[in-house]
Amino acid sequence: MKKLAYVVGTHPHEDHVGGLIQVLETFPVGTVIDSAVPHTTRTFETYLLTIKEKGIRYVAGRAGQVYRLGDLALRVLWPREPPPEEGLNACSVVLLVTAGDVRVLFTGDLPGAYEPKIATAAEVLKVAHHGSKSSTTSAFLRAVKPGDAVICVGDNPYGHPSQEALKRLADAGVRTYRTDLQGTVVLTTDGKTYSVDKKPWEYRAPAGPGGVAPAPSGGGTKFVASKKSDKYHYPSCNAAKKISPANLVEFRSAAEARAAGYVPCKICKPPDR
Ligand SMILES: [Zn+2]
Ligand SMILES: [Zn+2]
Repeated sequence: MKKLAYVVGTHPHEDHVGGLIQVLETFPVGTVIDSAVPHTTRTFETYLLTIKEKGIRYVAGRAGQVYRLGDLALRVLWPREPPPEEGLNACSVVLLVTAGDVRVLFTGDLPGAYEPKIATAAEVLKVAHHGSKSSTTSAFLRAVKPGDAVICVGDNPYGHPSQEALKRLADAGVRTYRTDLQGTVVLTTDGKTYSVDKKPWEYRAPAGPGGVAPAPSGGGTKFVASKKSDKYHYPSCNAAKKISPANLVEFRSAAEARAAGYVPCKICKPPDR
């Protein structure tokens, strides 16, 4: 069975440690690196208990530490001791993983206000906080200059990834990948170059100013959908253009599309009401 030398639980939020419980149950693990800040949810307690029961080495990740694994170096850039008191996201363990010339920056859910503390050049960026609008500032992108960025995100009620962060990445010319639309993204490197197993996701600005489509002139079609799917789109969406005329359904408002049982397309992001 594969052994995991290091497992990193960036901070105690369930979307970061919840899945790790199964990982710790399934694989032999050498060391867990964690923000080591207290939190009292059942999930976090189960995660800590599992580490204890399995006798896994547990260390508080703090800025300045370096962990080595063959040709890899894992440098902890954040948090400092003592960790900040402005919430758990601010305590995210941030790692710069280097393999030869290739650097990958893992940012957890670090808020934008802390980005100056970890701004360092990297070829690949794991986008902070699932693409939240309050992280991934333009100044940060100018400092890191990533060629590629991965947004780890699933279905969520917070609107991650935000149009703001997506646009800042696009404006900075960063090739971006999204796990919600593209599945698991695998990065392979020989220490000189690297490759990504997906094509970059293409950012398209939503129609109209501020992401709101212009009001239809005279009650015409505002959104379209296919009889074969449950998504509705702006007519300009690539997916909308592929709908055959026989399957085309038209709506004058988002409410009308919702009432017919359709949900907004995740690519063109029409309003949901
Ligand atoms: Zn979080
Ligand atoms: Zn999170």
